[in-house]
Amino acid sequence: MSIERRSYSIEPKPHKYSTGQRSNSNTLQSETTTGASSTHDEALDVSTTKRQLMESRKLSHDYTQIPNKIHSQQTVLSAEEVSGLIGLTNLGNTCFFNSALQCLLNTPPLVDYFMNDLHKKELNVKSVLGSKGAVTTAFANLCKQYWSTEDIDAINPKELLRVISDFASQFAQGTQEDCHEFLAFLLDMIHEDLNRVHKKPYIEGKDYYDNKLEEHAFESWRNYLLRNKSIIVDLFQGQSKSTLKCLRCGLTSHKFEPFMYLSLPIPETHSHSNIISLHDCLEEYSKEERLEGDEKWHCPRCKTAVESTKKLDIWKLPNILIIHLKRFEFTRERQRKIRTFVDFPYKDLNLQSVVAGVQRDKPMYDLYAVSNHEGSLGGGHYYTFAKNRDDKLWYAYNDAEVSALRPDQIVTPAAYLMFFSKTSVNTFKRQTISKPEAWPHLLNGKNRPSLGSPTDESLPTLKRQRSRKMSVKEQFDMNPIYDRCAAYNSDLSFDERAQNVMEANLSNRFSSKFELKNDQGSEKRNFLHY
Ligand SMILES: [Zn+2]
Repeated sequence: MSIERRSYSIEPKPHKYSTGQRSNSNTLQSETTTGASSTHDEALDVSTTKRQLMESRKLSHDYTQIPNKIHSQQTVLSAEEVSGLIGLTNLGNTCFFNSALQCLLNTPPLVDYFMNDLHKKELNVKSVLGSKGAVTTAFANLCKQYWSTEDIDAINPKELLRVISDFASQFAQGTQEDCHEFLAFLLDMIHEDLNRVHKKPYIEGKDYYDNKLEEHAFESWRNYLLRNKSIIVDLFQGQSKSTLKCLRCGLTSHKFEPFMYLSLPIPETHSHSNIISLHDCLEEYSKEERLEGDEKWHCPRCKTAVESTKKLDIWKLPNILIIHLKRFEFTRERQRKIRTFVDFPYKDLNLQSVVAGVQRDKPMYDLYAVSNHEGSLGGGHYYTFAKNRDDKLWYAYNDAEVSALRPDQIVTPAAYLMFFSKTSVNTFKRQTISKPEAWPHLLNGKNRPSLGSPTDESLPTLKRQRSRKMSVKEQFDMNPIYDRCAAYNSDLSFDERAQNVMEANLSNRFSSKFELKNDQGSEKRNFLHY
């Protein structure tokens, strides 16, 4: 799939920030506000609308799924009722901190989680890897302050920074830090603070040497969940596969690991324009590399260090996909910032062509936040563009200043961290051991391979449903997710792929709702909705 191309000037676009005052959102037309005028014509009580909106965002402590409303078409509130258009005070070189926070504070399902106080019931104060709840509580307080007022222009986030300095002092020394490093630290901390697993069993990471890839990915995910379950896993984590191949004996080893963000290399450009697409970066990520010299792999069959190849693949995409562009390069030879313009669509990003594993839901994403970096390696400035959840309009958040942004200003060469959310699902499902049917894997219909018993929860027994009597070929041919299965295991034989398709079909029957959509009448595809 190719990325949607638009015409760009490669010069960074000047962003006119207002002088600390909130801009009037009424001056911009939202893409998703059709029907807004009729709402006003009918003279509905706007405060009722706001109350209904707040009501619709309620979550219960034992939620099994969080509604995905990031891209929904909502009734628009009056400009005075729109929350969240709030800047963050710079505390001395803390734009990296403010920029990362603005991205998270504009992540609706995460905000819902904290606004409903769910963290209070899940705080894991015994985890030695967390902050005993301190960082998460401070973040939750900031989140509540941010979303429960329309009357202030900026919040001073000093309490959160103070708490963080107890655990990672480098972020509070008044020096310019990397926004991505801070984000990774904060998400890790929140995850450990909210980890629903209180006693982590010891589980050794496993390598696999055959082609039952989905089954191994499933087992690896289960082993991960036995040690890690949290709102962060539910929303942000996907699964990658790394493959090593011995060039002497041909032995191939697969390993499946969770990821919280994708760090993408920026390939060299050969054109004068110095523009590449996000897909170019994704392809570079999955490019096979040769391991030789010091990097040789110790092949377990040859029992010695051998020349080999290594390849990374995206196996399962998360609900919220954070993409980190590796703009800062630190090698022995040089340190530099890569300024290449990475072009990306802010709507309808289709990742079908870059995923190796079969996806339960169509991998379609829309951007909702981006952290930008302008300037050099040593000195520069971070600021955020984000879509407001109340009025669905885009704003620029530059420390304490907030200003309106046109959609054509979102994509710039300064983009550093992009936050995409999946548009093909209605809910984000909680990941637990007891509900493998909510995992991103498609296996055996019941999503339960013959594995040993998990230690903390027991797996339910689901009845396997029989498929209608059709030949393997018939089932394979008529299956609408054929293209996805074929993409995921093109190295398998026809019969093996057919088996996969049948298994995927069986698992579909366990979904609560199965919808057949006719895509402009030309192509039939299935989407799973939960
Ligand atoms: Zn070997």
